[in-house]
Amino acid sequence: MIKTTDVAIIGGGVIGCATAYALASAGLTVVLLERDRIACEASGEAAGMLAPQAEAAEAGPFLDLGMRSRDLFPALADALREETGLDVGYRQHGTLYACLTEAEAAEARRRLAWQQSQGLRVEWWEAGKVREREAGISPAVRGALYIPGDHQVTSGTFTRALALAAARRGAEIREGAPVTGFVRDRKRIVAVKTLEETVSAGRYILAAGPWSAQVAYALGLPVPVVPVRGQLCMVGLLQGGPRHVIYSRLAYLVPRPGGEVILGTTVEFAGFDKRVTVEGLQGILAGAQALYPALRGAEVRQAWAGLRPCTTDALPLLGPVPEMEELVVATGHHRNGILLAPITAHLLREQIVDGRTSVPLAPFRVDRPLPAQAPEAR
Ligand SMILES: Cc1cc2nc3c(=O)[nH]c(=O)nc-3n(C[C@H](O)[C@H](O)[C@H](O)COP(=O)(O)OP(=O)(O)OC[C@H]3O[C@@H](n4cnc5c(N)ncnc54)[C@H](O)[C@@H]3O)c2cc1C
Repeated sequence: MIKTTDVAIIGGGVIGCATAYALASAGLTVVLLERDRIACEASGEAAGMLAPQAEAAEAGPFLDLGMRSRDLFPALADALREETGLDVGYRQHGTLYACLTEAEAAEARRRLAWQQSQGLRVEWWEAGKVREREAGISPAVRGALYIPGDHQVTSGTFTRALALAAARRGAEIREGAPVTGFVRDRKRIVAVKTLEETVSAGRYILAAGPWSAQVAYALGLPVPVVPVRGQLCMVGLLQGGPRHVIYSRLAYLVPRPGGEVILGTTVEFAGFDKRVTVEGLQGILAGAQALYPALRGAEVRQAWAGLRPCTTDALPLLGPVPEMEELVVATGHHRNGILLAPITAHLLREQIVDGRTSVPLAPFRVDRPLPAQAPEAR
């Protein structure tokens, strides 16, 4: 039996699920194929920061996409609550970009200047004000950028809510359905195969995160994305704890409800190895404690690692593949896939339904020239 559908999506991470929701909402029939469970990889493991301003060292395509996507969250969180009953943990406490050295403070002031010149909301807080607002932070902090619009979400719940809402709008979500290959007619893809079925679609969306290169290998198509490991841990505080997301060169702290705080992270080129290591955890805990000494007595509750899908210019790969237009790639969102999921889904809907997008996809083309190595690997 061959199943036919308008769109087949490969991968049930945040990118696949957001896209399934957007396309099903536009009235298209969608089958999403996930080899394991929805949100079982990075999308269920991420810290959940929605921080384009904290993440962007300069203006450019990443910041543009990130700001547009960040703006979509309030309405999306409301819609998902209404449609699924799930609270995706969208918390609007803003982000502090804390500086522990003069060099970091100089860099922060440079960011302050260019971000304000772009009309973005950002303030410089002197050390005294930072301590006033965050009593547990290190006295060594020399000041911080306060970014009132960079917020957070609970990544796994957000991803599952997108899948559930997509299903409510008619998308067929298949878990335990690994894509094993394609059926082709010369160069054209005519169907995608799992262990149990063959799905023939008008469009195929490749959203398999860092495994996208392996899936595309069957097509002879190079998809330049590699896994980059990030380790995280969760601690519980008896009282107090940060009020904002606190971001720094040493570590970041993401406060969650109930006194829990996510601490991150590492950036490691370790292939598909998802182990938590002594070195990784030690670096995170030392950095977090130096930044926020009030964590000293906190209970370590959990530690885990995930694989970010990374390109060497740190921009995603988005859009149709030249000379294989039925295949659309949506991966490589690296450290910001949760943030960028809504705008990615929106642009893919525009591309597939209208044949054009409101943001040019040129900077994200799959066949753009890329540096040989990612900046973190140099
Ligand atoms: C430690 C850490 C912290 C992070 N923090 C943040 C953050 O604060 N903010 C933020 O915006 N982003 C963050 N990220 C990045 C974010 O998690 C990723 O960019 C995002 O989750 C990528 O989503 P995805 O859907 O592309 O990939 P994934 O979540 O990896 O999903 C891909 C899916 O494809 C499936 N798959 C693979 N092969 C096949 C196959 N053959 N057939 C079918 N399915 C297949 C996998 O099982 C998986 O479920 C973080 C990542 C890590 C690791």
